[in-house]
Amino acid sequence: MDALNPMQTATQVLTFSLEVGILRRMFNQHSRMTRFIAQRAGFKTTTLPMIHFVQRSVLLGLALLLFNGCGTTARRSAANKPLNILMLGGGSSHDFQKWFGDADSATLRELPNVTATYTEAVDTIVPQLAATDVLYLSNNNPFTQAATRQAIMDHVNQGRGLVIVHAGMWYSWRDWPEFNRVLVGGGSRGHDRFGEFEVKVTDPAHPVMAGVPASFRITDELYWQESDPAGTPIKVLATAHSNQRNKTYPSIFIVEHPKARIVGIALGHDGKAHEHPAYKQLLKNAVSWAARRP
Ligand SMILES: [Zn+2]
Repeated sequence: MDALNPMQTATQVLTFSLEVGILRRMFNQHSRMTRFIAQRAGFKTTTLPMIHFVQRSVLLGLALLLFNGCGTTARRSAANKPLNILMLGGGSSHDFQKWFGDADSATLRELPNVTATYTEAVDTIVPQLAATDVLYLSNNNPFTQAATRQAIMDHVNQGRGLVIVHAGMWYSWRDWPEFNRVLVGGGSRGHDRFGEFEVKVTDPAHPVMAGVPASFRITDELYWQESDPAGTPIKVLATAHSNQRNKTYPSIFIVEHPKARIVGIALGHDGKAHEHPAYKQLLKNAVSWAARRP
């Protein structure tokens, strides 16, 4: 169950109270009118409690309908709750600003009520992380500050979302093995030559795969993503088969962290991926699911 914005909740309670108040006033006026008409028509006063009982039942029914309406509003609010996404990129071998920054942040802004901020200054994020719902990591430029590394671990240990894209899941940090072991459940040390391959969805029922075709072709680097037996277990949602190695690798997966929702997207070398409709859908789904939006 997602916590509601306190302001929205207060507004809903106030609206509900006002609506019930209006109904009660209508009921009281109606009661006086009914009593007057009943007396004029010659009804005995003993029949009035019966009339009032019916009126009270109608009022209760209307109040329940209103309350149910508030519940619907609350669910809608949870689906559209404000979402702060902090996106990290930068490093070697990729046009990070263009594809991971500009293209992916534009894709994520298609979601309702989203703020997406991209930076390559990876060691300046600690103050921003406190207000971040989902952290997106694609960078292979190093985190040098122990405080940054600790803040990322704190972020997931507090149950907030993480989406790791392409270069972000590479084994880049020799001095920070916990990153791959705990947050990725493994990593990549190589890939097929850039080219076209097929991605096959293996878990179509998972929310991250909603609206994604059962299989699609993409021109990209096929990452040789390996699971770490000593790492956090992963749940594979889609795979790709490497002809170079004659082996099938995870393309999209969940890292089953005990506190946080973490999604790995191995795709994304350049615009052939970032402008691919399936990739864009996957990215939006991954962030929404990691943020626990319904
Ligand atoms: Zn790449």
